[in-house]
Amino acid sequence: MHYFVPKRCAFTSKIMYHDKLAAERAAERSQLERSVDLWVYRCQDCGCWHLTSHEPGRYLGGPFARGQGHRHSRKRGYKPRQRK
Ligand SMILES: [Zn+2]
Repeated sequence: MHYFVPKRCAFTSKIMYHDKLAAERAAERSQLERSVDLWVYRCQDCGCWHLTSHEPGRYLGGPFARGQGHRHSRKRGYKPRQRK
């Protein structure tokens, strides 16, 4: 009876992922299960990876190839497909 308790960042209180892949998997899962788009970014404070629901431009201070055009094409006023 021991649940996995993820470590949380002391600065952002977000769940810490030690590698980018793990964070990306979690983001993917939330997209599939909850239709929530999350971005992966590296925390400047703890050095681990976090998920954010905001576009990470302001965290990284640079353009982020993933998401922009892709994200737009999905927002057209209707849901292209519904996952159950
Ligand atoms: Zn952090």
